[in-house]
This record gives sequence, C-alpha cells and structure tokens, in this order.
Amino acid sequence: MLSTIPKIENLRRFFQTEATKPLELRRQNLEKLKNLVSDNQEEILKALKADLNKPELEGYLEIAAVNQEINHTLKHLKTWAKPQKVKNSLSQFPSSAWVYPEPLGVVLIIGPWNYPFSLLITPLIGAIAGGNCSVLKPSEFAPHTSRLVANLLNENFPPEYIQVIEGGVETSQELLREKYDHIFFTGGTSIGKIIMAEAAKHLTPVTLELGGKSPCIVDRDINVSEAAARITWGKFLNAGQTCIAPDYLLVHNSRQEEFIESLMGYIERFYGDDPQNSPDYARIIHEKQFDRLCGYLAHGRIIIGGQSDRESRYIAPTVITDLSFDSPIMEEEIFGPILPVFGYDDLSEAIDYINSRPKPLALYLFSNDKFKQDQVLGRTSSGGVCINDTIMHVGVNSLPFGGVGESGIGRYHGKYTFDTFVHYKSVLKKTFLGDGNWRYPPYGNRLSRLKPLFKFF
Ligand code: NAD
Repeated sequence: MLSTIPKIENLRRFFQTEATKPLELRRQNLEKLKNLVSDNQEEILKALKADLNKPELEGYLEIAAVNQEINHTLKHLKTWAKPQKVKNSLSQFPSSAWVYPEPLGVVLIIGPWNYPFSLLITPLIGAIAGGNCSVLKPSEFAPHTSRLVANLLNENFPPEYIQVIEGGVETSQELLREKYDHIFFTGGTSIGKIIMAEAAKHLTPVTLELGGKSPCIVDRDINVSEAAARITWGKFLNAGQTCIAPDYLLVHNSRQEEFIESLMGYIERFYGDDPQNSPDYARIIHEKQFDRLCGYLAHGRIIIGGQSDRESRYIAPTVITDLSFDSPIMEEEIFGPILPVFGYDDLSEAIDYINSRPKPLALYLFSNDKFKQDQVLGRTSSGGVCINDTIMHVGVNSLPFGGVGESGIGRYHGKYTFDTFVHYKSVLKKTFLGDGNWRYPPYGNRLSRLKPLFKFF
C-alpha cells in the first residue's frame, strides 16, 4: 500500500526557508483560517451533526471557541512574538538580557472525536501564530469532520506548510515514526502513553491533553436548583462525551434526595419525556463505546434513564445510585451520559476519596462557603477547578487549560497556546565594554578580594 504520510522533510525544508516566520504572514494565515471557518460554518455544523448528532447550538460552541482563540491571538500576536527585555544580573553589567520567542519547526497535532473540529483547530492557531509548519491527524471516528477539515485546509494552504492526513491508528503510528519538533495530542490517557513513548525515541517534546474522572462535589450550602441545572447541562452536553464533564457526583447526604429530584426535573425539562426524540441530545460516537457504556448499566440502582438503542447509539441521560467505589463504573473515565451519585457526611471524606485517585482534569465544587472552597482548593490537585458551575472555566482564555499527573502534560488556550508552540530562547547581549578581567586565570589570590562583591550579584 502506498503511504499517505507527507514527506516531513518537505515541511522541514519549507520551514528552513523562513517563510513561516514573518509576523505579517502569520497574521495573514490566521485571517485566512478565520475566513475559512466563517465561510464554512454551515458545513462544519452539518459534519458535527453527521458524526455525533451534535445539536446546532453545541456545534456552534465549537466554532465560537475557535473564533475566540483566533481573535484573541490576532489581537495579541505582535506583543507575544516580540523579544522581551528581562531583568539582568548585576554581574553582567554592562549588558542586556532578552527572551526571544522562536518557532519550533514542524509540529504534529493529533485530534480526538468528541470535539473533532475545535480540538484540532485550536492548537493549529497556536502553531501558525508561533511560526511553525503543521501536520494534522483528525480522528477517524468523526469521519465527516475529518474529511471537511482535510478538504478545507489541504485546498487552502500549501502542503509543505499545513497538511491534514486522514486515517486511523496505522496512520497515527506511521506519522509517529517521523521526527517532529513538538507533538500536540488530545485523547485518552492510555493512547497518551503510547504517543509519549514514540515521541521519546526522537526526544520530541509533547503536550498531552488527556482525560480522567473529573469529580463534582455538591455540598450542603448551595442553591439546589441552580446547581442541578448546571450539572445536568455539563454532564449531558454532547451526551457526556466531554473530557471535562463531571464524571461522578459526591453529594452531601443531607441534600441528596432534594438534589436528585431537581436533577430529574432538569433532565426532563432539557430533553423532554423521551430524550431520544430531543433535537438537543447527541449520540454515542460508535458501537464499541456504546457497548462499554451499556455495561455500566448493570450495576447500582438506575433512578433516571437507563434506556438505550444500539442502532442509533442512543443512551438516555442516566443517573445511578447505590454503587460502591469499587464498581466497574469507577475504574475508568465514563465519557458518556451516565452519572453515578455517591453520598458523604463530611467534606474531608470527599476530599480523601478524590486524593486516593489519579489527579483529574477538572474538579467541580458547588458550595458558597468560602472556607470549604479554600479547603478543596488547598487540599486537592487537578488540571482546573470550577466553583459553582461546570465546564465554563474552559471558555476563559486567560486560564491555562490542561491536566496534571495522569490527566495530561502541558497547557493551552490564549497566550498559553502560543507558548506551547514557541521556544523561549535566552539571549544575553554584551558589548566589548567593561571586561574587568577578573574571571580569567591565573586566579592567584583574587578570590578573597572577590568574595565580598559576590554577595551583590
Ligand atoms: P483516543 O485516545 O482513542 O484517540 C485520539 C487520537 O489518537 C485519534 O486521532 C486516534 O486515531 C489516535 N490513536 C488511537 N490509537 C492510537 C495508537 N495506538 N497510536 C497512535 N495514535 C492512536 O481518544 P478519543 O477516543 O478520540 O477521545 C477520548 C479521550 O480523549 C477521552 O479520554 C477524553 O477525556 C480525552 N479528551 C481530552 C481532551 C482534553 O482537552 N484534555 C479533550 C477531548 C478528549
């Protein structure tokens, strides 16, 4: 079979021509990308609908996230890309110290299927802004979006600058045999380990945007209705296939009954009596995921939902109680519309449980008590935290987005995306003035005279 893998040396050669470096060209390419997105909005929404039955509004959120990132980058690129003069050390007088953001070279971006448009294009914005050449590999499980993105980018950018390669695992594996200057991967933790092992062979730095079980604590002093609405939305958005969806709930026992009732009310209000007929409810991406998720329905007590239809890959918004922490559903990220609920009496119990697990990508706390907020913030570690809401922290582009520990390596969004795709080169600029010869041998007994001066350095 003929390889579809681009000749990476063609991209590298193009990078070496320095054509990707001038700021004005980076700006032009970002503008071009922006126009492509706005001119093809309908096509993008259609592709997302075909892949995930993504409701139009949810599809539009992907487009809006990309637009926000491009506009923010265009606004700040000049400042970000400028060499920054930094504080110097007295020992180097007279001289000046600088940090130069320089492009990395050729980068590989591998995307997932759940937000197949925005999670592929957002890193590309940083790669363009940083002055790099890019190879993109969309997920094969969102074939309509993959094809559309490939057509749009491959028809509008030269292949030695930006190139989309479609394909499955073998294509990824073939791509990973090549050497890049950075690999930006979004996907599951187990594949993340494979990516890192492959990257290590070339000592290529990686950004790994992974997943994990993001806990959501619902404490006593809350507005039950508001909390239930925000959790229902965050969990069942994209049928639970969101990397920062609340994975499981830890609800204070004194409010559990009332809270679950409210949750039931919101599920019905958002998706109707039969969510299968709702135009606002997505489908599971493929049968393998569907079967995995249905396996969870055999444990605990289903108090809402539980219905499924394999043909249309529909699983109703489902809430399960009476589970133990040893249940299969607590072994891995759920990544679907099933929400297990556990109770607790003391906040420390909830914190201890969270700390007994790998560090999550997101952590949610619903509590108006400042002391409890500080307690959770101070005693837990996670990629990000959102207090009294779900998902929304991802939309603030001054906040770095990424995991910690098993939930990922690196961060992006806004300036952090630019930072990911440049190297900050240290530069010390000296003149030929003021060389006191104190550092040159023979040292003789100079040290005793220099020692008092070193304390000023
Ligand atoms: P995945 O890990 O199965 O696949 C992601 C990409 O990796 C795809 O392009 C796929 O072709 C490629 N791939 C799969 N197997 C490979 C292999 N053996 N070698 C090389 N490449 C391979 O992820 P997914 O199923 O598309 O997405 C779901 C996961 O991604 C969830 O765990 C979710 O939490 C995570 N995720 C994280 C973020 C984030 O921003 N942190 C966002 C979305 C999804």
